[in-house]
Amino acid sequence: MNMIPYPSGSIPDRAIYERRESAVRSYARSMPRQFNRAEDVWMHDDQGGRYLDFLSGCSTLNYGHNHPVPKEALLNYIAADGIAHGLDLHTDAKENFLETFERLILKPRGLDHRVMFTGPTGTNAVEAAIKLARKVTGRELVIAFTNGFHGMTLGALACTGNAGKRGGAGVPLSHVAHEPYDGYYGAEVNTADLLEQRLSDPSSGLDAPAAILVETVQGEGGLNVASPAWLRRIAEIAKAHGALFIIDDIQAGCGRTGGFFSFEDMGFVPDIITLAKSLSGMGLPFALTLLRPEFDRWAPGEHNGTFRGNNHAFVTAAATLRHFWHSADFQHEIFRKGELLEKRLTRIAAEHGFETRGRGMMRGVNVGSGVLASTITAACFDAGLVIETSGAYDEVIKVLAPLIIDDALLETGLDILETQIREAVAADMAVAAE
Ligand SMILES: *Cc1c(COP(=O)(O)O)cnc(C)c1O
Repeated sequence: MNMIPYPSGSIPDRAIYERRESAVRSYARSMPRQFNRAEDVWMHDDQGGRYLDFLSGCSTLNYGHNHPVPKEALLNYIAADGIAHGLDLHTDAKENFLETFERLILKPRGLDHRVMFTGPTGTNAVEAAIKLARKVTGRELVIAFTNGFHGMTLGALACTGNAGKRGGAGVPLSHVAHEPYDGYYGAEVNTADLLEQRLSDPSSGLDAPAAILVETVQGEGGLNVASPAWLRRIAEIAKAHGALFIIDDIQAGCGRTGGFFSFEDMGFVPDIITLAKSLSGMGLPFALTLLRPEFDRWAPGEHNGTFRGNNHAFVTAAATLRHFWHSADFQHEIFRKGELLEKRLTRIAAEHGFETRGRGMMRGVNVGSGVLASTITAACFDAGLVIETSGAYDEVIKVLAPLIIDDALLETGLDILETQIREAVAADMAVAAE
């Protein structure tokens, strides 16, 4: 292992960021280095430090940094003067992406959805989804869930639970009800039953919804996992009450939980699915909203966007799908490594009475406090591991290692995490004993 810690006292002057970059920057504050290169599972700073990446751009880099397959496809495409920006025009790159996506992803999973190219970020895909559900049903209310995260633009933000994020809106965030997610009141209370009861009671005050919007694993909300039975029930409730069922698979999809979609083999078909983050395969902006054909009621141009034709992302996405998703092998590898991760995290958590969260390669440890969690992630960073937190209080340390990581490096990162948790907990106890 050759992780060179940043030589102390040699941090160069980076006053330009203080002087000119908006105060809104966030990750740069907890990882105050200048990065200049990345490949595979590694990020490098300009002082010769290297870091194992257990954040993966919040699951945008599931295949690691600059994977050679999409990289080569993109280099060739640019060298041949391929279309870079194409509005929503037909291009070779778009046709190739659609055919590959249909052949390797949609058809084998029996999904008849149409593909809507939205603006290139996840929040765009969510906006399109809820806008369409409102148009199709003629209803206003969207049901979202406690601890849900769906993006930062007003419509998606209204569906997001976190008060700090919601506070930035500056206007009322309305037309969304936040119902309790699976397990919100503990294992004994079935929150799907509560939802059904409220929707069936004409005097509950809960209006008939246009859509029910849910993550199968809450990425930003603390890695809470909904059970297949609960999700199936929510899908049935949506159908029974004339609402569209939307799965936001922006973080949990693209293989993060095992299958390409996070809901595979659960026994329901969402009316709408949103995808973004790792869809391009190498970190290029690219988002999709998938819709059942009977709900594709858009008028041409009714939902628009200048950057719906990021052809570079079409090229890298198609190359990535062909390389990783042509068989079930990759999926089996993710399940296997997910179990390894679970085993290690359970052991680490048990040592301190913490609990684990998550599913597949989307797992973490709830250390009970945001202060402790950030102490641990900061110490991990100093030890050469990029890792972040999630949850209502940022109390869950979230392992989002690239899916392509080999077992040895996965263990290496978990070794660092284990050590830093142990040291931070010991320091905490020493302070408490004083
Ligand atoms: C990241 C995320 C979004 C928003 O995507 P952006 O690209 O940041 O707009 C929406 N939903 C989920 C579940 C996410 O994890």
